[in-house]
Amino acid sequence: MSDECEDVLDEVYLYLDLECSDERRQLIKSHLDECSPCLREFGIEQEVKALVARCCGAEKAPDELKARLRAKLSEISVEERA
Ligand SMILES: [Zn+2]
Repeated sequence: MSDECEDVLDEVYLYLDLECSDERRQLIKSHLDECSPCLREFGIEQEVKALVARCCGAEKAPDELKARLRAKLSEISVEERA
């Protein structure tokens, strides 16, 4: 995964929550359109967000869930390298 990917994934929550600037969001979106590893991770995050919204009625994932999600995502990348 490239540095650019890490930057994008770091900001995916801001992107999802519409907390980043339009310019930044556009940059993230165009990267996701072109980069399948990022798009897949982003897809997982979207699912989690939807799950959180269904279960708790919350718009944003709690920090603990974000941490678990990050751990899950790093497991996936470890499996790919193996
Ligand atoms: Zn990427």
